[in-house]
Amino acid sequence: MDNLESILSENRVFSPAPEFSERARIGSRAAFDELVAEAERDFEGFWARLAREFVTWDTPFTQTLDDSNAPFFKWFADGKLNVSANCIDRHLPAKADKTAIIGESDDGSVTHISYQELHDRVAKFANALKAQGIEKGDRVVIYLPMIPDATVAMLACARIGAIHSVVFGGFSAEALRDRINDTEAKLVITADGNMRGGKKVILKGQVDKALEHGCPSVEAVIMLEHIGGVATGTSSVKELTWAEAIDGQPAECEPVMVEAEHPLFILYTSGSTGKPKGIVHSSGGYLVNAAMTSSWVFDLNDDDVYWCTADVGWITGHTYVTYGPLALGVTQVIFEGVPTYPDGGRFWDMVERHKVSVFYTAPTAIRALMKLGDEVPNKYDLSSLRLLGTVGEPINPEAWVWYHQVIGGGRCPITDTWWQTETGAHAIAPIPGAIDLVPGSCTLPLPGIIADVVDDHGHSVPTESGGNLVIKKPWPSMLRTIWGDDERFQRTYFPDNLPGYYLAGDSARRDQDGYIWIMGRIDDVINVSGHRLGTMEVESALVAHPEVAEAAVVGRPHDVKGESIVAFVVVKGDRPQGEAAEAMVKTLRDWVAEQIGPIAKPEEIRFGDNLPKTRSGKIMRRLLRGIAKGEPPEGDTSTLENPAILEQLMGND
Ligand code: ATP
Ligand code: MG
Repeated sequence: MDNLESILSENRVFSPAPEFSERARIGSRAAFDELVAEAERDFEGFWARLAREFVTWDTPFTQTLDDSNAPFFKWFADGKLNVSANCIDRHLPAKADKTAIIGESDDGSVTHISYQELHDRVAKFANALKAQGIEKGDRVVIYLPMIPDATVAMLACARIGAIHSVVFGGFSAEALRDRINDTEAKLVITADGNMRGGKKVILKGQVDKALEHGCPSVEAVIMLEHIGGVATGTSSVKELTWAEAIDGQPAECEPVMVEAEHPLFILYTSGSTGKPKGIVHSSGGYLVNAAMTSSWVFDLNDDDVYWCTADVGWITGHTYVTYGPLALGVTQVIFEGVPTYPDGGRFWDMVERHKVSVFYTAPTAIRALMKLGDEVPNKYDLSSLRLLGTVGEPINPEAWVWYHQVIGGGRCPITDTWWQTETGAHAIAPIPGAIDLVPGSCTLPLPGIIADVVDDHGHSVPTESGGNLVIKKPWPSMLRTIWGDDERFQRTYFPDNLPGYYLAGDSARRDQDGYIWIMGRIDDVINVSGHRLGTMEVESALVAHPEVAEAAVVGRPHDVKGESIVAFVVVKGDRPQGEAAEAMVKTLRDWVAEQIGPIAKPEEIRFGDNLPKTRSGKIMRRLLRGIAKGEPPEGDTSTLENPAILEQLMGND
């Protein structure tokens, strides 16, 4: 691509507080620079050292990286380990009584699960899986709500070498069936249903429907009785309840040691840009980065109470709920409900009650909670917090500053973590005790991650110009392939025009300090009269207006300019209509012109009650591109959260 123009300027810098740095794992820029230098000096030696530091190996590896069949890289290939033993057994007996998981349900009831209890539950369930004939390498689909049992099910699979594929509980029967069939899963683990915002959501019915439509590989279903009152035995295959499955099973289960490259799981991407891809992750390399980044980026210590609000159905819920924090033996919160029930103070109430110290959530949640006003969080004691994190989308500086001031009391660093299902773990993120923060930038690549911004031929672009975000060398937790589709893996991530670099699919720029700014998906770049603009920057300007809650921007073909900008805006309060809408359009066009220049002025602005989002909360701009052109949106909508919004934005309601 040509160079992108950068129109967003953000100069506020937040340096790590000395109190934070003093006790941090990596507590200075010099310490950080030394790690970067170590990785440069001896790339393999660096990763081998970390792999020994963060993972307990049953058979130590002798070879670090095998690149003989690039881009199908292998890491630590002759080593053997068990991931569940790393997350549980190695903390025993020392941490037997330490709380591993604080589970809070929708209705506010709380359970504490110690590391010993977690061990026993995982062992029993792993034995139950074995009793159903599940063996090393078999695929198991997990379709469960965000409850501790989901983590138990994942770890039980890992214990016996079965490959799990978690399907987000909000997905429909069709999405579930596609994933079951793509993985050829032998077993499905589900629940009768779950509670969200005081309402029952039935999960088992979706499984029945999926199986009715044909899932020939499935031999059995295990259903957790979680809400009660839902009949089992209605699908066409063998069914048993979780309680029946573990009945009589011992609380010991010898972990199966697997090769480092043995797949730990398959996880489908969120589908923002197209048909979801079944991303395959390894056991050894994946765990190295999961544990290392949890330690470095979240600075997790023994006395922290950590809470990541992501669902286990997403990569964030894999790496930063199940695997990373448990590998470090910390205490974490797992929450079944929604941030707005019983009211918009739920998150902050939970932070206060559980004394959460490290909190990780998505920009979409931050913007939604910001919209409710400062009074809500101000009612709670948030003084236990010491570090905040975000993931999933670029965070616009307005939301960043609100998160920093109102939630973090101005004292907590914010780690804006850039990564993907494919990277397995954080790739670009500020290490909080070491790196100065600038709102809106995910700052610097982690030591050992050789990221760059390049043109379409792989040449680094100049400072401040936009280009393709790439990672030039392999890293342990990188995806190994797309399940069943090596060809798509190569074509998508290692295209011929780049010299063996991993292509992330995002556009980015680097500033004078080397800081990386994610500008959006490569597809989201808009070319207005020869100026290439990132959607993110126009959106940030819109959201900076006091009356705007959220905005999405797309390009529309234009005879003269090439493309023009169309903005979809959600305001705080009611959606403006008629004259009020016209007035608001004028205000916002002028505002954007003032904030970043006339070139970025949207040609059209439409208002909606919300925006089309994936179930993981990301804006689906590819659907908005159709709407902007006056065409019905096309392509895969199976992961869309709120289909009705498309009609409203098309102007049909
Ligand atoms: P699909 O690949 O199917 O379109 P997806 O890319 O939304 O789905 P994920 O792997 O969950 O699925 O998301 C990774 C993407 O999220 C990144 O490529 C990037 O676009 C965006 N992202 C994640 N974290 C950040 C961040 N901190 N800043 C900016 N963008 C981010
Ligand atoms: Mg993606």
